[in-house]
Amino acid sequence: MEIRVRTDDCTICGVCAQECPFGSISMGEVGPEFDESCTLCGVCVESCPAEAIYMVGEAEKILEERDSSKSRGVWVFAEQRAGHLQGVVLELLNEGKNIATQLGEPLACVLLGDEIEHLSQELIEYGVDQVYLAEAPELKDYRDDLYAQVLEHLVGKYQPTIFLIGGTTNGRSLAPRVATGLRTGLTADCTGFALDEAGNLLQTRPAFGGNLMATIRCPHHRPQMATVRPKVFEAPTRQPGRSGEEIRVELPPLKPWAHILEIVDEESLGPNLGEANVVVAGGRGLGSAEKFRLVEDLARAVGGAVGASRAVVDAGWVSYPHQVGQTGRTVAPKLYIACGISGAIQHLVGMQSAETIVAINRDPDAPIFSVATYGIVGEVEEIIPALIREIKSR
Ligand SMILES: Cc1cc2nc3c(=O)[nH]c(=O)nc-3n(C[C@H](O)[C@H](O)[C@H](O)COP(=O)(O)OP(=O)(O)OC[C@H]3O[C@@H](n4cnc5c(N)ncnc54)[C@H](O)[C@@H]3O)c2cc1C
Repeated sequence: MEIRVRTDDCTICGVCAQECPFGSISMGEVGPEFDESCTLCGVCVESCPAEAIYMVGEAEKILEERDSSKSRGVWVFAEQRAGHLQGVVLELLNEGKNIATQLGEPLACVLLGDEIEHLSQELIEYGVDQVYLAEAPELKDYRDDLYAQVLEHLVGKYQPTIFLIGGTTNGRSLAPRVATGLRTGLTADCTGFALDEAGNLLQTRPAFGGNLMATIRCPHHRPQMATVRPKVFEAPTRQPGRSGEEIRVELPPLKPWAHILEIVDEESLGPNLGEANVVVAGGRGLGSAEKFRLVEDLARAVGGAVGASRAVVDAGWVSYPHQVGQTGRTVAPKLYIACGISGAIQHLVGMQSAETIVAINRDPDAPIFSVATYGIVGEVEEIIPALIREIKSR
């Protein structure tokens, strides 16, 4: 903490010197002067009638010292699990490349893990110019504390202009930690980017339940950070043999905040929701947790993933990773079968870009039918078993 005076506002009234409990203030020609006995107690700040005295915290000092004109490069966090890049990383590369080209800056990835060097070349072949590679046994599995410390260190050192992170479960946890540590802004769940005349990133995301699109700028802080939902952008085409630069980085001292005793994988209900070509999703129309199993049976019969509306996740019929929609996953499968889901806007924003949508609902006026390719009006308890029988008989 530091104490400062806005000399233009100070009237040299002397109230601060009178109120100071430690006698640390004397009045100079342009305002109060503080001697070494000042404890930064803040009484002078409170008492100043002109509001000319203020405190500056560490966060503000970091911002003041950072020279944003030195920032350069568009970065993408190359999230990997067990040595495989997450799909959203490639999707971000296309968009990242467009922005980097317009800015005349390089597109870089930051890749954290252990024994993952092979991914550098993969990223380069997908259009990345530079890969910042940090390898250590402690970074093998994703963890918030250590990953955030490494990213803060690297961003502080190399100062990218823009830093994009995939809106996966890990990305959504990591991005706000890093942004807070760097004292910069973060726009979550972006669906589009552009640049303004000054080269600031225009970050567009749905707001007010998807009814409005908001465009957000972060003109005073760097890097400009955003998370992006999977399946919003298309992945680029791989160019085998393409060359780029791998920069092996030195790690800062890592300070774990937690000790992980055990990692338990959740029992899987079929294929990964974000990657599946077919998603069978159930809503409150199923009536109960037991009847929700019909959705799982249909998903199994068609080799699809299980999705759900928030209503059934909130009711505990199925776990959160299956939730589709504004506060869940965005999916874009070839086929989406919505069973007993009304079609609230918050659900639609997560699935309306599916190629074919089949909706089953007893209410012919349910909003889900407005986005459905095929609609079946009827009871889920009758229609789902009939569909399963028909699929199995073929
Ligand atoms: C900030 C915010 C974020 C949200 N995020 C999400 C999100 O990410 N995902 C999400 O899904 N929701 C989200 N919601 C909630 C959303 O607004 C809806 O409340 C929710 O999607 C409704 O779920 P549902 O369609 O399963 O239930 P309901 O709206 O209750 O619909 C049930 C449907 O089932 C039909 N039905 C009933 N019985 C039968 C039967 N026997 N056979 C056939 N059809 C039947 C009914 O006609 C009805 O259309 C969010 C809300 C807010 C405010």
